[in-house]
Amino acid sequence: METSNERLSLTPNENFYKDGAEYWSKIPPTVDGMLGGFSEISTTDIHSSKTLLKQLFTSTKQPLGRGYALDCGAGIGRITKFLLSDLFDRVDMVEQNPQFLESAKKYLGKTILEKKIGQMFPVGLQDFRPEPGKYDVIWCQWVLGHLTDEDFVAFFERCKLGIKPKGVIIVKENISSGQVEVDTTDSSVTRPMGLLRELFDKAGLDCCRMVKQLGFPKGLFTVYMFVLRPRHEENVGSGE
Ligand code: SAH
Repeated sequence: METSNERLSLTPNENFYKDGAEYWSKIPPTVDGMLGGFSEISTTDIHSSKTLLKQLFTSTKQPLGRGYALDCGAGIGRITKFLLSDLFDRVDMVEQNPQFLESAKKYLGKTILEKKIGQMFPVGLQDFRPEPGKYDVIWCQWVLGHLTDEDFVAFFERCKLGIKPKGVIIVKENISSGQVEVDTTDSSVTRPMGLLRELFDKAGLDCCRMVKQLGFPKGLFTVYMFVLRPRHEENVGSGE
């Protein structure tokens, strides 16, 4: 259980989303831009994510389908390009900055764009509502710090409806140690493990797998991947 000092009550100022959008509007549409100058971690990041997804595809209990993925906070489509379009038949992207989506069309290349990309939604996650039952995987990476606690929970409640019966939500995020860390430069927060787990729980999600990202340079936040499934009544107490 987290201690109360882990919880810095998030009453972000009214410009929280506006400031975030303004920050990203000045960032170049490159991998370096997406990763805050750390483009060198991209290969390691994608490799670990791929390993996790491949394990989920071959899981005997509830094998994950390979039909449709959603990339949340997709930016120019780094994850769509190297991970999701490689492993899924089709990928949708949701991103608050329409210019990044415009750049994505070039960055992804003609083949991926034509063969793999379904829809691109130029909207913030706080306002996004996935189509019911559409996705095998909803992938959220390095974007949830841009949502308030309240919008985070509401967003995942909508995502629960957006996945197929055997679908999953995967979150890959920085974790702070101890307290919520507020970044006024890009208008985001980094949450500690306790608070993240609490918010998943509030949204009615069970975390069925948690994997620590290895191999990133020292000095960066710890990164974890979480595999989340809607909590079904029948799962409660069944030991799943
Ligand atoms: N997930 C991508 C991009 C990370 S950069 C990757 O790992 O490569 C963070 C991205 O989140 C930026 O593209 C930014 O515009 C987007 N973003 C910021 N706030 C958002 C919000 N409220 N809703 C959706 N996207 C947001």
